[in-house]
Amino acid sequence: MAKLSVTDLNVTGKRVFLRVDYNVPMEEKDGGMVINDSTRIKETLPTLQLLVSRGARLVLAAHLGRPDGKREPTMSLRPVAEKLATMLGRPVEFADDCVGEKAEAAAKNLKDGEILLLENVRFHAEEEENDPVFAARLARLADIYVNDAFGAAHRAHASTCGVARIIKAWGGTCAAGLLMLRELQFLGDELEQPARPFVVILGGAKVSDKIKVIDRLLDKADTILIGGAMAYTFKLAHGGKTGKSLIEKDHVGTALAAEEKARKRGVKFLLPSDTVIATPVDTGKLNKKGRPVYDLQNPRVVSGDIPEDAEGFDIGPETAKQYAAVLAGAKTILWNGPMGMFEDARFAAGTTAVAQAAVAATRDHGAKSIIGGGDSVKAVNKAGLGGKVSFASTGGGASLEFLEGAPLPGVTCLDETTGKQS
Ligand code: AMP
Repeated sequence: MAKLSVTDLNVTGKRVFLRVDYNVPMEEKDGGMVINDSTRIKETLPTLQLLVSRGARLVLAAHLGRPDGKREPTMSLRPVAEKLATMLGRPVEFADDCVGEKAEAAAKNLKDGEILLLENVRFHAEEEENDPVFAARLARLADIYVNDAFGAAHRAHASTCGVARIIKAWGGTCAAGLLMLRELQFLGDELEQPARPFVVILGGAKVSDKIKVIDRLLDKADTILIGGAMAYTFKLAHGGKTGKSLIEKDHVGTALAAEEKARKRGVKFLLPSDTVIATPVDTGKLNKKGRPVYDLQNPRVVSGDIPEDAEGFDIGPETAKQYAAVLAGAKTILWNGPMGMFEDARFAAGTTAVAQAAVAATRDHGAKSIIGGGDSVKAVNKAGLGGKVSFASTGGGASLEFLEGAPLPGVTCLDETTGKQS
């Protein structure tokens, strides 16, 4: 059943606790913290503008980084309040703690259409523990709960679900924000009965991270295209040589089982026919994390085995061409995980080719292209194609869990459309 939408609420004069995802990248500059990318703030503006225009009194809650339950000045949301005020063109008040007398007084003093941003909820360890007493302290700040933080919805924390349960128990309503609804629509409803052919592209580092998604999508897809380091475990399973490539020996059986399921269901399951490899040479240096730094020498393409001293880093040009041809005929495309180590330009061509093919299918014959969050979204943006796909998810871990079919605590706690409305 559909979740209750923020558009269905009567919010005038009411205090709305709005959970947003403001976990933005920041860096230290001239003694202060500067926001590097405001995409996550921008994504919440439609919900904010709707609520403000309807005269809600907004109490915004979010987390930033991993302060582990302590006050950490570099992880304060204060710079976000300033940025949000500029982006909205209206004042945003800031409370330097998310609970307590000051926050309660600030929330109580809000007038219709005014906004208060609370300090990082993770400055309290009780947030991640989903502590009911802490959740009740948050709940005292508002009458209605709205969750627009899809990126944090896979966490059962106080601000993502505990507070909702309490507001509901006290007779309030819990609804989904506009961004949350779009995520649920594209990653959920649109994939229930997809226009066919439905082509799924899966890449990334590990088979073990993606196997649940592969398994679930084998029930729905017409074709699955495999790329990324995960392809080497499949190669190994077929008796191929993988050199120094990232593989998961323990998951050879998992890989073969997925292929067998595809065969039984008549799902086309394509593995790369060629690979961009390079020879890693130890530089004798260590990176910031204390790990050895390798120089990746002599990038080249192989179509069969990977030599013992080499490592695979991208799908090869023949595979990219073949995958692009499959995507050209798709009506629905779902993509999760890059085709290679795209962060290094020498190994980004496969990922860029797939991004371009998804964009072309969308532009040329209206295919629905859905990018399932995390690194694939970064890769699409890096290729300058961000606005050209049908939907790019804002959730990394959350989108993966949702695609696996796992219930997200931040979603299940929201009322259904038939539920009581405020
Ligand atoms: P994931 O989070 O599982 O989607 O994995 C994304 C990461 O996998 C990115 O940081 C990529 O650089 C990395 N990756 C993809 N393909 C390869 C590869 N062939 N070798 C090493 N890393 C890879």
